Amino acid sequence: MANIKFEYIWIDGYKPEGNFRSKTKVIEMNSFDGDISKLPEWAFDGSSTKQAEGNYSDLSLIPVRSYLDPGRRNAFFLLCEVYNPDGTPHESNTRHGLEDWKDMWIGFEQEYVISVDGRPLGFPKGGFPAPQGPYYCAVGAGKVAGREFVEAHLDECLDAGLGISGINAEVMLGQWEYQVFAKGSLKACDDLMISRYMLHRMGENYGYTIDLHPKPIKGDWNGSGMHTNFSNKEMREKGGEKMMTEICEAFAKTHEEHMEAYGSNNDQRLTGLHETQSMDTFSYGVSDRGASIRIPSSTGKTWKGHLEDRRPASNADPYLILKKIQKTMKNVKF
Ligand code: MG
Repeated sequence: MANIKFEYIWIDGYKPEGNFRSKTKVIEMNSFDGDISKLPEWAFDGSSTKQAEGNYSDLSLIPVRSYLDPGRRNAFFLLCEVYNPDGTPHESNTRHGLEDWKDMWIGFEQEYVISVDGRPLGFPKGGFPAPQGPYYCAVGAGKVAGREFVEAHLDECLDAGLGISGINAEVMLGQWEYQVFAKGSLKACDDLMISRYMLHRMGENYGYTIDLHPKPIKGDWNGSGMHTNFSNKEMREKGGEKMMTEICEAFAKTHEEHMEAYGSNNDQRLTGLHETQSMDTFSYGVSDRGASIRIPSSTGKTWKGHLEDRRPASNADPYLILKKIQKTMKNVKF
């Protein structure tokens, strides 16, 4: 028998975006084969996480997916959903109710800023580095900051079994991106959540805070987004200019509804500058990085493949993004 550590991970009740919370349960077992149905539910004090009143505060943690935790010995991450004492999903539980479309392929481009004392890593104390230009996909001291941490995060994500498909330094110094790809809506969102959890936890070792604010530095500095690439079976196999146009037109009709679910303070980022469309305008176009939805040039050539929704902010909740995308996709006749 071994003592295996299970990290029960959930999102708290803070608004507009919740924070990660987690705690460890040690369970004696021979080994763990990934079957979460063998693991117990657990409880926590919701009055300490803005999820309950003090007099009736026990909430349930139901494990929904497990991952190897490469950063600890004999350990696993357990992504959990939060439930009320009466068995209903807690209002902070946005994962509940997302239909798991198995033929949906999702690629999230998660941008974030490594922050120290409230300033991006690499920014001089009390001042600013040279203007944007040299930092995107850069190499060399002074042009990038935090690579050691970024590489360590990539390795641990891969070891955990997450579908990370790449990393790059972003347009602002101290700003980075990684891409999460998965087949199936729930797997994509779950992988993204664990990758974010790992960013925050690994940041502890370096004294780094992970800033997911969509516009961390005001002025002529790029904000952080989470472009969401998506396709279903019909888009990949049948396709056609007519189908792709119909999808974009369906998204035009639900623009405002989507914006409500795409992260707080996104208006500071979607200004029409810095490779964005402005918040109150919807547009689409082939290879257009100033559009709300970009039809990638590869899709534009064959009219088969994915579309890129460029509107979600870096702090957006992936479950809410996918709920909106799937709802709008239901309005399209494939
Ligand atoms: Mg990017």
